Amino acid sequence: NAVIGIVGGGQLGRMSAVAASRLGFKTHILTQDAHGPAAQVSSSVTLGAYDDPAALDAFAKAVDVVTFEFENISADALDRLSKYCPVRPSGHILRISQDRLAEKTFLASSGVPLAPWCAVTDRTTLHEAAQKLGLPLILKTTRNGYDGKGQRRVYTEAELDAAFEELAPHPLVAEGMVDFACELSVMVVRGTDGTTRCFDTVLNHHWHGILDLTLAPAPIADATAHEAGRLAALIAEKFDLVGIMGVEMFLVRDGSLMVNEVAPRPHNSGHWTMDACAQDQFDMHIRAVAGLPLPPAQRHSDAVMKNLVGPEDMALWPAILANPGHIPHLYGKKEARPGRKMGHVNILFPYGSLPGEWGIQAALGPLATKCAAPPATDQD
Ligand code: ATP
Ligand code: MG
Ligand code: MG
Repeated sequence: NAVIGIVGGGQLGRMSAVAASRLGFKTHILTQDAHGPAAQVSSSVTLGAYDDPAALDAFAKAVDVVTFEFENISADALDRLSKYCPVRPSGHILRISQDRLAEKTFLASSGVPLAPWCAVTDRTTLHEAAQKLGLPLILKTTRNGYDGKGQRRVYTEAELDAAFEELAPHPLVAEGMVDFACELSVMVVRGTDGTTRCFDTVLNHHWHGILDLTLAPAPIADATAHEAGRLAALIAEKFDLVGIMGVEMFLVRDGSLMVNEVAPRPHNSGHWTMDACAQDQFDMHIRAVAGLPLPPAQRHSDAVMKNLVGPEDMALWPAILANPGHIPHLYGKKEARPGRKMGHVNILFPYGSLPGEWGIQAALGPLATKCAAPPATDQD
């Protein structure tokens, strides 16, 4: 049976490898960690750096098709792999999506609405950006940002220069601060035959820059959820995507949508599909990568996904196991360092009956503490 090569050894590779094995494929991982989340569940491993030509060649020779779960491999490395076998999604998508400037330019030219933005290369363009966008704004590194790292919020003129200096290496992107009602995302998957499927639009709640909760479906107007799906499918087509992609968006208070960023791989905000869909994001991704037909991306239940981050959440592990409504997924990471994604819990509700905020808090039980609002101050 065919061997699917996965670049990257983290949890997204692990869950992709499990799906691949269910679909009858072997998996071969390129990673530097022989005992990491993906390597633990895979048929075989090439140990080596993502920029080491010898490791890349050895890896490519052992597989029939390549995908990646790790976005910071160089697109040049993917090009090298593509001399041996298909790479899905292709290197050109990664080349665009791993650079915020290239990504925004591409999305804007595809007719996708974005937050107002400016390229910032030096002090002059920095202050011009502040003039054009107004304050507050967000400065982001063009490359390598994740979980809110590599960005600074700037509220006053006086803070501009320091934020610029802190975010080296440059260039940067400046974005107007969007006063959003909530954040949404769509997982879109596209097959080799061009079939495009979108999972339902979901609502994401972050805690200190890290995804905390996903609500599926997003409790928003049907027309808005539908428009989010249309945008995700448009992006997949413009990219000529094969495989899965997460599309993050803002729902602005005037009801319009703005795309924040895309990730051409399985995405944390798609983990709810593992228990609420007959075929989850990893099944769909592997099907696309392997050139198989794509079934509809159907949700059979409503769901809440709660990330388990760092030692605080892992301290609740016994309580999670004792709760029959909590469906646990651990990633096999040895050490629960602060801010590290260790696993997630899915909670299911019958189709069409996702509860409101307080019902969700109740279902989360001890896991709810992080999203509790601070007490209101008594003004009387
Ligand atoms: P990820 O882990 O999703 O890859 P990231 O580090 O790439 O995160 P972004 O997704 O760009 O960063 O931003 C992180 C979060 O910061 C967003 O989910 C959103 O909450 C907030 N944010 C980013 N850009 C803006 C903006 N222009 N206006 C308001 N909030 C923003
Ligand atoms: Mg990102
Ligand atoms: Mg993001």
